[in-house]
Amino acid sequence: MSKRNVLLAVITVLLLSVVAGCSSNEQPQSETVKENSQRPIIVQGPMPIEAEEFAQRLENVEKVKSGTTFEFYIGTVDDYPVIVSKTGKGMENSAAATAIAIEKYNPIAIINQGTSGGHDPNLHVFDIVLGKRSVNIGSLKTAERGENEGIDPTEWKPMDLMASEGSAGEDPNAEKIRYYKGDKDLLVAANAVKDKYTKGKIVEGTIGSADVWNNEIDRIKWFHNKYGTSVEEMETASAAQIAKAYDIPFLGIRILSNNKVNGGKYNPNTAAANQEYVYEVVKKYISTLPSE
Ligand code: SAH
Repeated sequence: MSKRNVLLAVITVLLLSVVAGCSSNEQPQSETVKENSQRPIIVQGPMPIEAEEFAQRLENVEKVKSGTTFEFYIGTVDDYPVIVSKTGKGMENSAAATAIAIEKYNPIAIINQGTSGGHDPNLHVFDIVLGKRSVNIGSLKTAERGENEGIDPTEWKPMDLMASEGSAGEDPNAEKIRYYKGDKDLLVAANAVKDKYTKGKIVEGTIGSADVWNNEIDRIKWFHNKYGTSVEEMETASAAQIAKAYDIPFLGIRILSNNKVNGGKYNPNTAAANQEYVYEVVKKYISTLPSE
């Protein structure tokens, strides 16, 4: 090597080490450790259209699968850890996805969001319900009827499977409605960014969940009057039940994609609109968390 080439090589090595130094300075070790010690916020969505819009907004994202269906997009929002969980549809999937998320990721809070069908005639497609409470509307005890006495769902009673560890069938104390409360701080964050949403109104209400799609107006009215449901869907109450079992702050946020009681036709674009709003809620919530 000529003297000139040796000099060039030395300069190159020096420059490279400066560049390497700079990039490692961007993420000093203490910062990485701090980031890892922050408990993530979980944002759940059942169907691809109810999860992927939010997942695309994550930074530093990595996709991890549990089993064959549960997908977790692990990333950050405003440098805070946020995990989008595509749970799959229905009560079983959302309960399992919630338990997996809690055991694996120790979240600070969980938001279950997606589409829903209206029970309240004053709510329209693109309006959003913040789940002040949620309830399992598939948990029912039928009346006593003998053979050939027929069936009558309007006589069915709510059944609270959490009332005791004994038989719900025999226990009259189990004949009541079990509501799961939405977390106060998550509700405050959600209300604080209401004005950022312009496609409909945002109200606090009751989310009813079951593996049932109700198309009978009288049955929908029965739930609305008896349980106070604003909307129905298939996930929130089950995720809420598991979040409560672990004492994790939880909120359901559901947009109306359809409303049988006022003729609101199903619109799949509502799924993305809800995620845009929930993104604002998450940013607001992060800004209220105490910095370590
Ligand atoms: N198998 C049925 C339902 C699947 S879609 C079908 O294909 O028609 C159900 C999803 O949409 C669930 O994730 C649920 O939370 C949501 N959903 C939207 N509107 C609903 C309504 N009116 N009743 C029940 N679930 C509803």
